[in-house]
Amino acid sequence: MSTRSFCKRAYSFFKAYPSASKLLLLSTCSGGGLLVYSDSSPSKRTLTADGQEIKKKKVVVLGSGWSGYSFLSHFNNPNYDVQVVSPRNFFLFTPLLPSVTNGTVEARSIVEPIRGLMRKKGFEYTEAECVKIDPSNKKIHCKSKDSTSLKGTTEFDMDYDILVVAVGAKPNTFNTPGVEEHAHFLKEADDALKIRRSVINCFERASLPDLTEEERKKILHFVVVGGGPTGVEFSAELHDFLVEDVAKIYPKVQEFTRITLLEAGDHILNMFDKRITAFAEEKFQRDGIDLKTKSMVVGVTADEISTKERGSGEVVSEPYGMVVWSTGIGSRPVIKDFMHQIGQGQRRVLATDEWLRVEGCDSVYALGTLNKKEFKGVVKDICQRYPQVELYLKKKKLRNIANLLKSANGDNTELSIETFKQALSEVDTQMKNLPATAQVASQQGKYLAKCFNKMEKCEKKPEGPLRFRGEGRHRFQPFRYRHFGSFAPLGGEQTAAELPGDWVSIGHSSQWLWYSVYASKLVSWRTRSLVVSDWVRRFIFGRDSSSI
Ligand code: FAD
Ligand code: MG
Repeated sequence: MSTRSFCKRAYSFFKAYPSASKLLLLSTCSGGGLLVYSDSSPSKRTLTADGQEIKKKKVVVLGSGWSGYSFLSHFNNPNYDVQVVSPRNFFLFTPLLPSVTNGTVEARSIVEPIRGLMRKKGFEYTEAECVKIDPSNKKIHCKSKDSTSLKGTTEFDMDYDILVVAVGAKPNTFNTPGVEEHAHFLKEADDALKIRRSVINCFERASLPDLTEEERKKILHFVVVGGGPTGVEFSAELHDFLVEDVAKIYPKVQEFTRITLLEAGDHILNMFDKRITAFAEEKFQRDGIDLKTKSMVVGVTADEISTKERGSGEVVSEPYGMVVWSTGIGSRPVIKDFMHQIGQGQRRVLATDEWLRVEGCDSVYALGTLNKKEFKGVVKDICQRYPQVELYLKKKKLRNIANLLKSANGDNTELSIETFKQALSEVDTQMKNLPATAQVASQQGKYLAKCFNKMEKCEKKPEGPLRFRGEGRHRFQPFRYRHFGSFAPLGGEQTAAELPGDWVSIGHSSQWLWYSVYASKLVSWRTRSLVVSDWVRRFIFGRDSSSI
C-alpha cells in the first residue's frame, strides 16, 4: 500500500470514528511517527460503507413532556442529529401532580432531568421556548430566559430538517373574566407547588385572631372548577388532606372548611363509565364535598366567584378563599400561529394524517393531541389504515365492516359509495379525537421514534398499506392507539378503574392497582424509589404542612 493511500484510509477511518484519534495520539507519542489530524468533537457528518460523506439530517424536537420524552427515549437512529428545545429541562410525571398539591408526594420525586437522557443518547438540549415556527424556511424562532439581558430574554433562530412538535397544550379559560388573574391552574410542577403553599396559607390566615366566623368561612372555601379527572382528583386529594391532616394541625378552624366542585355539564367524570360517575358523585356527597353540576362559571373577582345555573338561569356569586381552574385544554399560541400559516386556522387542534405528519406541511410531525383526517371512501385496508374503525366495531359489537354498513344502510343490499362514506363518517364524528392523555402522547412518541429507527429499511421495503393515490405502499404502518384503561382516584384510598373489555372496578383494591401501575410507569428507578418513599412517609408521619 502506498503512503498516500494509507493516509487516505486512515483519514477516513478517523473521520468515521473520531474517538479513535485519541488512541492514535497515544500511539504516536510512544512510537514517534506519523501524525494524522482528525476532529474528535462529535461529528455532524457520517460515512457510508463506500466512504462517501453524508450530512446528517437534523431533527428538532419541541418539548420534553410525555410525547417528547417518549420519542427521545426510543429514538435510536445514528443517521440523524437530534436537538431538543424545551423551556423545561425535565420530564414531569403529570398523573401524580395532584398528589403534589397537598404534599402526599414531593415535586422533585416526579420529575426526571432531561440532561441524563441527552448525555446517554448524545442529543443536544437548549432550554428555550419556541415562539414561532417558520415552515417555509424550515426555521424556528426561540426565546430563552436571560436575567442578564435588559429584556430578560435572549432570542435566536434554529434550522431544522425535520421538526417534531410535542409542545402539549395550555389550560383553557374560555375567556372567562378574571380566571387568568385570580385562579390557580394545575398543569406544571410550579402550579402544584403554588397550590400547596396557597392551601397552607389559607389555613394560617384563617387561624389569625380577631377574624369573624364569616371571614374564616370565606378564606377556607376552596372552589374547584371542572369535573374532569384532574378536577375530581384534586378535590379528592384536598378532601383527604382536610380530613387526615388539617383536623390534627388546625383543629380550631377545621369546622369552617368547605370544598365546592363546579361542573357545567350534567355529571362529573362524563368520559368514564356511568357506574363510575354515579359512584364518584355519591362518594363526594357522603364526604361533604359540595358538588354543583349544570353550574357554569361566568366570572371570578378577587373575592367572589360567579356562576350561571343552567336550570334557573340565575347568576349566583359566592365568596371564596382559593379557586383551582381545571376545565380543559387549548392550543398554545405558537401552534395557533403555525396553524394559520399552513391553512388550518379554522380548526381547533392541529390536524395530522395517520402517520402523525402535519397536514399541509412537509417534514413536520405533531405529537400529543391528534385529529384524525376525514375518512375516504375506499374499502381496501380500511381497518389497517383507520384503526378507529376497528375500535368502533368492537364498541358497537359489530363483527365487521359489512355489519357496520348494514347498520347505516338498513337491509338494502345495494351499496352506494355515498352510503359507505356516510357509514364511515359516522365513525369519524363519534371517534374523532383521541383523548388528550399521557397514554396517547407516549404511544405516539414511541411510534414516531420507531418509524425513524427503521427509516432506511422501510424506504427500500415499505411496510405500510397501499397508497390511495400513486403507486406502491406507504413506508410505515399508520399509528395505532392501544387503550390500557384509565383510573380516577376518588380519595380515601379508593380509586375507580375502567379497564379494557368494559371492566369496571371501584374501591380499595383498585387503589392498590393504581399504586402499582403508576409506580411502574415512572420513567426511572430514581423517581420510582422517591415516590414510593414519599407514600411510605405519608402513611407513617402524615403530610408536611410547612409553607416553604
Ligand atoms: P406535555 O406533557 O404537556 O409536554 C409539553 C412539553 O412541551 C413540556 O416539556 C413543555 O415545557 C414544552 N413546551 C411548551 N411550550 C413550548 C414551546 N413553545 N416550545 C418548546 N417546548 C414547549 N394523562 C393520563 O393518561 N393519565 C393521568 O392520570 C393523567 N393525569 C394528569 C394530571 C394532571 C394534573 C394533568 C395536568 C394532566 C394529566 N394527564 C394524564 C394528561 C397528560 O399529562 C397529557 O395528556 C400529556 O402530558 C400530554 O403530553 P404532551 O407531550 O402532548 O404534552
Ligand atoms: Mg411532550
